[in-house]
Amino acid sequence: RNRADIMGVLIDKGNLEDALKRCVAFLGTQKCNIVITPNTEIVMEAQKDLALFKTINEADLVIPDGIGLIYASKIRGKGLEERVTGVDLMHKILKHCNDHKKSIYILGGKPGVAEAACKNIKEKFSMIGIKGFRDGYFKTEDEMKIIENINACKPDILFLALGAPKQELWMGKYKEKLQVKLVMGVGGSVDIWAG
Ligand code: UDP
Repeated sequence: RNRADIMGVLIDKGNLEDALKRCVAFLGTQKCNIVITPNTEIVMEAQKDLALFKTINEADLVIPDGIGLIYASKIRGKGLEERVTGVDLMHKILKHCNDHKKSIYILGGKPGVAEAACKNIKEKFSMIGIKGFRDGYFKTEDEMKIIENINACKPDILFLALGAPKQELWMGKYKEKLQVKLVMGVGGSVDIWAG
């Protein structure tokens, strides 16, 4: 695994295709793989938030979803060549899910947003299994119930759209409990899919 160190935050080198390959490999494992899509703001935030810092550096794939990270890398000669966005990677993953009959669950967004996103995803990629969705405005005491529901739905992938860094911290907190192959923080991408 070849990673660039940007202010202590380790980011995977490679392009969109490399990232997709890693994600496809994750779908063949028996663990919960974490995919994080930081921009410069998150890297800065991680400087003062140890839980966020640890979650990123322990993640299975960290893509540079911010042109600022590419500039920082170029100035410091760290070897990040190009921006890889969460929106693009999510799209590639969805296409893979369609071609290989994999399934997803979307957690996040305002009420109705995840549902609308699922509907539009299913329209474009009819072979994807939509195992469930839920909005991202819940109480902390409901979180275990939400995780139980996700696990009962048995999706291959969980897309989390709680905004950064909330979604990253959430993944870090619950990665041992989530029975999915891949969890990816997708932020506003779910709003884009909802249209
Ligand atoms: N969001 C959520 N729960 C929250 C906070 C945010 O579900 O407690 C959702 C919000 O509705 C939006 C998504 O997270 O759909 C991304 O939020 P934002 O644009 O703030 O984050 P970014 O895309 O910049 O990470």
